[in-house]
Amino acid sequence: SSNEQPVKKQSDTQHTALSLHRHAHKVKGCYVILIRNSELDGIASTMAQIEDTFNSKFDYPYVFLNDEPFTDHFKSTVASLTKARVLFGLLNSTMWGYPDFIDQEYAARCRESMAELGIPYASSESYRHMCRFQSGFFFRHPLLDEFDYYWRLEPYVDYYCQIDYDVFRFMKDNKKKYGFTIAYKEHIETVPTLWKTVMSFLDEHPDIAKQLPSHNESLINFVTSDGGQTYNTCHFWSNFEVGDLSLWRSEAYLKLFDYLDRSGGFFYERWGDAPVHSIAAAILLKKSEFHFFNDIGYRHTSYMHCPVGDIFRTKCTCNPNNNFGKVNPFCVHQMLGSLITQSLDFNMELSC
Ligand code: GDP
Ligand code: MN
Repeated sequence: SSNEQPVKKQSDTQHTALSLHRHAHKVKGCYVILIRNSELDGIASTMAQIEDTFNSKFDYPYVFLNDEPFTDHFKSTVASLTKARVLFGLLNSTMWGYPDFIDQEYAARCRESMAELGIPYASSESYRHMCRFQSGFFFRHPLLDEFDYYWRLEPYVDYYCQIDYDVFRFMKDNKKKYGFTIAYKEHIETVPTLWKTVMSFLDEHPDIAKQLPSHNESLINFVTSDGGQTYNTCHFWSNFEVGDLSLWRSEAYLKLFDYLDRSGGFFYERWGDAPVHSIAAAILLKKSEFHFFNDIGYRHTSYMHCPVGDIFRTKCTCNPNNNFGKVNPFCVHQMLGSLITQSLDFNMELSC
């Protein structure tokens, strides 16, 4: 594409047989970052940590997306922070804007009544466009066409632990489709009809419903605690996500997203991409296709995942006493009950 930066030459000219081999079999992975120009200092900090802990060894490209054009200053600054490729894309009005089936006046009234409840981002229009984009469109942006896996990054987050293996290769070799670090509970007021809408989608699409993993094979008990009557609001925090793009590009997810979109909940309520992704993945994937990245120490706002255990103290700069399991034991228990324990061994139990 025209605004793609040229590929940078590696400063290291020593190509060992191993690095050539690794390059030849490189997984098509990228970072994907939806961001505003004003958040440049925040993404500079995130990128410095990502490069230090992981990407300086692997050089996965960064895809920056924005609903407004990136400034030259933004582009040159982020490019200077990595030797990997950097790509910059703009969102069109399908990906960021009101679909014609949305009643914008009704949406405005809904925002006003939600604001009275004191819910975060209750009155924000841009936040709703953002959540809808992250739910249904980032994986269809043309700049992502060449990629099979993504790692979502946000400005102002921290990455604490040295990662010595190729995370994308791990996903591919182990047939993992959704990787997370933090699980939390959502404000139910933002998603009052989401669960019901997903259930009516399944009722109306028996062809899709009958191809899903069984309740025992899936992670559905992470998102419902009463056998499917209601949503328990547990979700993976999508500000960190490492995923297989084929999950979201699947016919089942595309139809589900379209159904959710047409129901209006992204605008009349304030459906977050985290509960949408989590419920969809819990229904569409098998338990074994999820991966808890215990070894990736991560912080977003005041919530942190910091791996517990002596082996991590030389690799990580975070304090394990701040591990998130102490913050939200409920969703951790939902996970322990649902996920195969093999990928959840270690110390999650200790921390709740
Ligand atoms: P929170 O994590 O739920 O509090 O939401 P954030 O404000 O962190 O937004 C999530 C991601 O979307 C971040 O990477 C933001 O930079 C990005 N984002 C949010 N709103 C906008 C927007 O209006 N325009 C653009 N370009 N990016 C946005
Ligand atoms: Mn954020």
